[in-house]
Formats: sequence, C-alpha cells, structure tokens
Amino acid sequence: MTADIIDGKAFAAEVRRKVGIQVAALKAAHGLTPGLSVVLVGEDPASQVYVRNKGKAADEAGIVSDEIRMDAGVGQDEVLAVVRRLNADPAVHAILVQLPLPDQVDEAAVIDAIDPAKDVDGFHVLNTGRLAVGLDAMVPCTPLGCLMMLEDRLGDLSGKRALIVGRSNIVGKPMASLLLSRHCTVTIAHSRTQDLPGECRRADILIGAVGRAQMIKGDWVKPGAVVIDVGINRIDAGEGKTRLVGDVDFEGAKDVAGAITPVPGGVGPMTIACLLANTVTAACRQAGVAVPDAA
Ligand code: NDP
Repeated sequence: MTADIIDGKAFAAEVRRKVGIQVAALKAAHGLTPGLSVVLVGEDPASQVYVRNKGKAADEAGIVSDEIRMDAGVGQDEVLAVVRRLNADPAVHAILVQLPLPDQVDEAAVIDAIDPAKDVDGFHVLNTGRLAVGLDAMVPCTPLGCLMMLEDRLGDLSGKRALIVGRSNIVGKPMASLLLSRHCTVTIAHSRTQDLPGECRRADILIGAVGRAQMIKGDWVKPGAVVIDVGINRIDAGEGKTRLVGDVDFEGAKDVAGAITPVPGGVGPMTIACLLANTVTAACRQAGVAVPDAA
C-alpha cells in the first residue's frame, strides 16, 4: 500500500481563502476588521520565522495584524502590562504570545492574563476547560488543523481508535478533547507508556506530537491508518546542511498508512490557517455577530 499524501499546504490555502471571504464580508456588513496582535519576546530564530509567517498570512487575509517585539531580558511585569493593554484595546480581537518565553517570564502567568475571549491560541485555562467539558471554546490552532484534515479524509470519526503520542497542553491534551468530542476511542501515549509500538499498531488514527525525529517507525503503523505528524525536528542532512523531519519515519510509514501528512507541508501550514480562522471567530464573538458563510 502507498499512502495518500495529505497536502496541508493546499488545505491551508483553501482555509485562508475562506477566511479572506469572511473578513471582507465582516467589513462590508458590519465595518468590522478583525485585529490580531502577536507578542514576541526575545530573538529565538524559529519564533521569529513563525511570527513573520503569521503576520504575512493575516495581512493576506485582510486581518489587521501587529507585532510587538520585546527584548529577551524583559521582566514579567512588562510582558503582563503589554497583555493588559491589548486586552483593553477594542481594535485587538486576538492576542497571541509566541512561546517559549525566556526563563524569567512565567508562561502560565502570561497566558492566564490574556482575556479568554481574545486567547486565539486557546491556551487559557478557561478555554482548555471549556473544550474539555464540550463547551464552545477558542480551540488551539494545531489540534484544530489536525482535526480538520482528519475529518476531510475520514468524514465521521465516530468509533475510530485514535492514539496521540504526546500529552502537552498545546497539542496532545486538546487533541484528545477534540477527538473525544468526535466520539473516537482515544489513547494518549507519553514517555512512560509501555509498548508504544503495540499501542500505535492498534490505532486507526495515529498522531505524532513528540518532538523526536522519526521516532515512530513504519512497522508501528496499522495498515490503512491515517497518520498525522505534528513534529517539527531539524536534523543533519550532511554537507553542513539541515532539513526538517517529523516524529514519524515518513519513508517507512508511507508504505503502510492509508494517508499521511508530510513534514514540512502538513500540519504546519494548517496551524497558521487555523490561527486566522480563530481570529475571525474571536472578532465575531466580541462584536456579537455571526461568523459569515464562506462556502
Ligand atoms: P512537548 O515537548 O511539550 O511534549 C512532548 C510530548 O512527547 C510529552 O508529552 C512527552 O512525554 C512525549 N514524549 C517524549 N519522548 C517520548 C517517547 N520517547 N515516547 C513517547 N512519548 C514521548 O512538545 P509539544 O507538544 O509542544 O510539541 C511536539 C512536537 O510538535 C514538537 O516537534 C513541536 O515542534 C511540534 N509542534 C508543531 C506545531 C505545528 O504547527 N506543526 C505546533 C506545535 C508543536 P512526557 O509528558 O511524559 O514528558
């Protein structure tokens, strides 16, 4: 079997096109322009690339975006002051604080300070709690993108056996909540899981969110399973070059899986597209208007 490659880039382009239509409709009908503010602390090169890509994608969709850069040595109070200012600004509907933050800044305290209605990353405990109990919430962008690709591929997920490798607050746990909401039988694996290959082989849906290059081997994959690879790992490609790979051994898995996301070009682009979609959702909720149809 050779797996279908799930083209996250093309899927994301379609989501972004629809967001563009929604933004234009909001401007025309309500004079409402969704606004996104991204806070970047420090000089982490990967974070700088992510933030730049997010800003560019927002601009292309007609969302007003603004980037607030803070020095790596900034104190926690200064970061909290910026968040509070953005909370109070009615033109800002969505706030994203790029993680990780420097050691002297308490990430949990910063996330906790974000107005949950503007918490476009869905990391505030109010949003994670609402998601966990099945209420409307801002849903974290990466798991939301994964869910969209899964539903596009499989339709109804009800009864599917899903394994998520990784239990982080930003990917693994919200992914589990989303799949439970779609009536999957969900297992979360982590570093203490015994017989991880055996757990993987039972999964109709296998999600790698570990951060370890090519750890999930092809012969761990159930034939025909849908594999979503969240991992982004930079490895040595020889001759002084590097390349990005996922948590799944793509070459091995693609001969067994029914469908698989590549790295790069799978989950990553969908994360940004979902950030834009969440920004529109946040703006509509704050303005008390319905999210426009973009069919
Ligand atoms: P974390 O480091 O927060 O979590 C990693 C998880 O993997 C932990 O739960 C850990 O278990 C588990 N783990 C580590 N080693 C093993 C092992 N040997 N066997 C089983 N489980 C293991 O990572 P994130 O969730 O933040 O990110 C995961 C990956 O996804 C990273 O590569 C990251 O770069 C990528 N990512 C990609 C995004 C995208 O847009 N494509 C967005 C966000 C993340 P334990 O809890 O026991 O320590």
